[in-house]
Amino acid sequence: MTQQTQKQINLRIPGPTPVPDDILAAVAHPMINHRGREFAGIVERCAAALKTFFKTEQDVMMLSCSGTGGLEAAVVNVLSPGDKVVAVSIGSFGDRIASIAETYGADVKPLSYEWGDAASADDVRSALKETPDARAVLVTHNETSTGVTNPLQEIAAIVREHGETLLIVDAVSSLGAIPLEMDAWGLDVVVTGSQKGWMVPPGLAFAALSERGWKAFETSKMPRFYFDLGKHRDAQAKGQTPFTPAMSIFFGLDLALEKMAEEGLESIHTRHRNMGDLTRREVKALGLELLCSDERFASDTVTAVKCPEGIEVSALRNMMEDEHDTILAGGQAKLSGKIFRIGHLGLVHEDDIRSTMDALAQSLEKLGFTRTAPTV
Ligand code: PLP
Repeated sequence: MTQQTQKQINLRIPGPTPVPDDILAAVAHPMINHRGREFAGIVERCAAALKTFFKTEQDVMMLSCSGTGGLEAAVVNVLSPGDKVVAVSIGSFGDRIASIAETYGADVKPLSYEWGDAASADDVRSALKETPDARAVLVTHNETSTGVTNPLQEIAAIVREHGETLLIVDAVSSLGAIPLEMDAWGLDVVVTGSQKGWMVPPGLAFAALSERGWKAFETSKMPRFYFDLGKHRDAQAKGQTPFTPAMSIFFGLDLALEKMAEEGLESIHTRHRNMGDLTRREVKALGLELLCSDERFASDTVTAVKCPEGIEVSALRNMMEDEHDTILAGGQAKLSGKIFRIGHLGLVHEDDIRSTMDALAQSLEKLGFTRTAPTV
């Protein structure tokens, strides 16, 4: 076997995010009995810590799958075929959860926006007036494909005025990095993924259901087996998972959550806000334009930047990688070739952003970008 030495890269994509060395070392822990006492201790510690980050009294279940598996679990555990759902979409992940619901037979009523815009609570109110018997509203908290954060608390307040309608939230690229309060805001299903704000590799999704969500679970008729959250809740109560878990990720998560608790939720949120502000400021100082149309909704975990005319996104990203070891994300779906994205979530500090911006400035210059004077 050959020994590979890993060069240091500045991984500035919106997940998987860089994993600190001590967490990487924890991930390499030898296998143990996943039904034994040591692993039960890890499950119990992680489950308890996650509740503090979700800001919930409810169980947070840890599923061995990527974020999309968590979204599928969210849908199939509370809905039934034929249920009407208002699917708020401001980008490709909003479209994804809508298509999961559709795949399982929900009657999806789309509430879609231009990519780059945020959803509005007033529009959600109107959509619920149009579909008064909506069983659920689906919403992406932070749309990773466009770098926009929806006003989730305001949207939740509208949904809560609407009786038993459930609010299902994709918090994959927000939770653990930007504020979200599951119980206080009245969110019914909340899902996130390990490779985003949590500083661990991909492989786990975390999902919690409100009391209303668990009530819906009792009558929900969508088919489910692996993602049956009842099975996960019951196993987790015994310090287990219903199926063989992604143990290595659990080893890392145990330490990651300890480190996050040490840093403190407030400080984590402030750090992400500062990194978001810094990124946007620097991007604009280079003469570039943000995709997000209203900066009040600009994401503090990922920034989407319009690629200047005459510059190819792929050429720019390749140059950043080859000459500066800095990895940016491209655009997804209809934004492919039009934008690039800078991830700033999880393990991220000012130096990471500053060196990214230096590399970006140098690469743009080398590719012939000349900034035009700002219009007044
Ligand atoms: N939802 C959002 C907001 C995301 O950012 C992602 C991943 O980037 C997903 C869902 C899907 O997660 P995964 O790729 O882990 O399945």
